[in-house]
Amino acid sequence: MSHRHFCDFAGHWWECNGAALRRGDTERSVCMCGGCRLPLEDGDHAHCKNRVELVACPEHREEERRRTEEARKEYDRRAAEFGFDGKWARMKALPDGPEKHALAEEIVEWLFGDGDKQEAGA
Ligand SMILES: [Zn+2]
Ligand SMILES: [Zn+2]
Ligand SMILES: [Zn+2]
Repeated sequence: MSHRHFCDFAGHWWECNGAALRRGDTERSVCMCGGCRLPLEDGDHAHCKNRVELVACPEHREEERRRTEEARKEYDRRAAEFGFDGKWARMKALPDGPEKHALAEEIVEWLFGDGDKQEAGA
């Protein structure tokens, strides 16, 4: 009995034969039911809740990996440009006060400030 996943990369359903490669993994792992925590290929999960898992399908997995990799590189580049590591270390070392507060705000703004733009481009 096969089950289905929703490919959130391209937004479609796909049939899975029991194991799938998940984001961040290098090897396939057995699909577990989100409702009863048993392998999806064992037993009947028709009435289980949360059994649908978002996994990129084999077709889009490679593309997703590539995009994730690109996004990570882009993030690293922007972080270097911003001087993230240095600012973060300085912020953590500072005693509580306006200077620390201002630096923390700057970092938060950088982290989340253009989140919308990133979403739209993804
Ligand atoms: Zn599966
Ligand atoms: Zn189940
Ligand atoms: Zn897909």
